[in-house]
Amino acid sequence: MTTSIKDIDIFTLCKEHAHIQGSLPLAQLPRLKDDLTQTDGTLSYTVTGAQDAEKRLFLHLIITGTLPMNCQRCAEDLAHELSVDNTLELVHTEAELDDEEEELNAIMSGNAGVEKIVGSQNFDLMALLEEEILLSLPIVVAHEVCTETLPTAVGEKVSPFDALMALKSQ
Ligand SMILES: [Zn+2]
Repeated sequence: MTTSIKDIDIFTLCKEHAHIQGSLPLAQLPRLKDDLTQTDGTLSYTVTGAQDAEKRLFLHLIITGTLPMNCQRCAEDLAHELSVDNTLELVHTEAELDDEEEELNAIMSGNAGVEKIVGSQNFDLMALLEEEILLSLPIVVAHEVCTETLPTAVGEKVSPFDALMALKSQ
């Protein structure tokens, strides 16, 4: 099933505690494209709406999948495992957003709450998912250990080519 998630009444979704589940083709994420080595494949997402007793609206986002990227250290292929799991509070107007100073104070005092975003009745959920993916990426995307730059460790598979070179140099 492919429903467009670019035009969603996000308030109703929350009030009804509804959830949307689907797949996100990499090719449809324009802001992420530059970081990817190819755009075949899809990510999975689940968006769950909720409303608490004080009528505050929340959105819980889960995005999983693999991003084909390049290691920024060795430039080899790297499969970045994505696991976005984030809760946002929906507000109706920008005036309801925390101002930066408040937010900073909250972070400093360790009381940082849930991040707020402005919702709408024709909300672009696709753009929000992409934003969350971008925010989740590490500053430097790199292998934990780059195999290309390290000598072959004991027990690691030796390629036939390396074995041949070793023989030749004897
Ligand atoms: Zn690497």
